[in-house]
Amino acid sequence: MNIRTATINGFAKEARSRDAARAVQFNESTAPNAGAADLSARVEKVAAVAASHAAAVDADARFPSESIAAARAQRLLSIAVPRELGGEGLGVADVVDVCYGLGRACASTAMIYAMHQTKVACLVRHGRGSSWHQLLLRRLCAEQLLLASSTTEGQSGGDLRNSAAAVDGDARITLERQATVISYGEAADAVVTTARRAADAASSDQVLVVFLKENYTLERLNGWDALGMRGTCSAGFKLVASGLREQILPVSYATIHAHTMMPFAHLAWSSAWTGIAAAAVERARAFVRKAAQRSGGSLPPGATHLTRAIASLRTLRCLIAASLQRFEAISADPVALESLDFQTGMNMLKVNASELAVATVMSAMQACGLAGYRNDGEFSMGRHLRDILSSPIMISNDRILANVAAASLLAGTPASLRD
Ligand SMILES: Cc1cc2nc3c(=O)[nH]c(=O)nc-3n(C[C@H](O)[C@H](O)[C@H](O)COP(=O)(O)OP(=O)(O)OC[C@H]3O[C@@H](n4cnc5c(N)ncnc54)[C@H](O)[C@@H]3O)c2cc1C
Repeated sequence: MNIRTATINGFAKEARSRDAARAVQFNESTAPNAGAADLSARVEKVAAVAASHAAAVDADARFPSESIAAARAQRLLSIAVPRELGGEGLGVADVVDVCYGLGRACASTAMIYAMHQTKVACLVRHGRGSSWHQLLLRRLCAEQLLLASSTTEGQSGGDLRNSAAAVDGDARITLERQATVISYGEAADAVVTTARRAADAASSDQVLVVFLKENYTLERLNGWDALGMRGTCSAGFKLVASGLREQILPVSYATIHAHTMMPFAHLAWSSAWTGIAAAAVERARAFVRKAAQRSGGSLPPGATHLTRAIASLRTLRCLIAASLQRFEAISADPVALESLDFQTGMNMLKVNASELAVATVMSAMQACGLAGYRNDGEFSMGRHLRDILSSPIMISNDRILANVAAASLLAGTPASLRD
């Protein structure tokens, strides 16, 4: 067995970043040996665990520890990290497929995975020039670290492009923020947070900082007894953190947001929601089949709603596929990424995908009628409906529509259907 243990002494509280390169212990025997080809089999294993605990996770509003443990065992948390850092170097298309597969099983697991992978994408794409972040990614692969996200703060809702709290200090930095929501904050190994660059910086002059669990304390501000997505455990916290200046990503948040955070998050979230919608359609199809069998082959009246559900699911999948293709095509082109056309398109992906996903689950429920409306029984849509209703809220569609309104005035009408 080729076991090589590298001892690196970093991430200690008082360590400088070059020293940090010597303190994380990781064992290369845990490095991935499975190729990307077996990804779907690994996802299926995790999805099976997630599905078997989904009802309990929802009922108890608890972190889906079993499915995240399974994802760690299958090394799914590091699939998008480059191979040279210990990951599998898989792209956004593979990641969103995992979100979809998990969404069919357990919405909370899928959303946790989507949020984690969005943070990984920010580190991979914008931490290249930083030895601290490269080392963190190595450690993430070796230990299957789970990253949480903190952008929502105080009363400012989903206004991602403005921060109130600022990082303070020189070589050592501190940050204190009233984080309205940090999903799985207590279960995460690190928090990736936006902040104002400095005490005298404008609210939109933001940075993205990674704080490891040993760098911060979380004081609960409120709990998470929500309608759906109950397993995300999205409580509010006072986050008090300190670390090294090197923990700030070397690129401004404005760039990270436009190039990676917004498009990647919207693709990953939409894929998780599509998984929920697909699961609802599966249930509706099973209901209609059973009803048809019982009545000697004639379809129940609700079957037309199943047709609607299948059609809107197909539209949803096409929407994501087209957006994914566009993102992959231009992901290395900063000018194209920052273009109004791309930014508007990726913002509207979130709005349209959430609306279609809600419509799909609603149609699926109507196809089942009372059997779908009940909270018990094999055709209940209660959990799916409650989970999917988070989608227009999670960065409010109204806020996004208001933000892109000015851009809509500048855009022209395409001359061809293929433009
Ligand atoms: C399941 C889930 C998990 C989450 N996880 C995290 C997390 O891990 N980390 C994190 O930081 N955040 C997280 N969030 C928060 C999320 O990112 C948004 O910040 C939050 O959903 C917005 O909250 P809000 O509706 O109170 O605020 P707002 O966006 O302020 O919206 C409040 C109301 O105002 C309306 N509104 C807002 N702006 C406009 C406008 N310009 N024009 C017209 N109407 C407007 C909205 O429609 C809404 O009715 C999560 C949210 C959910 C649902």
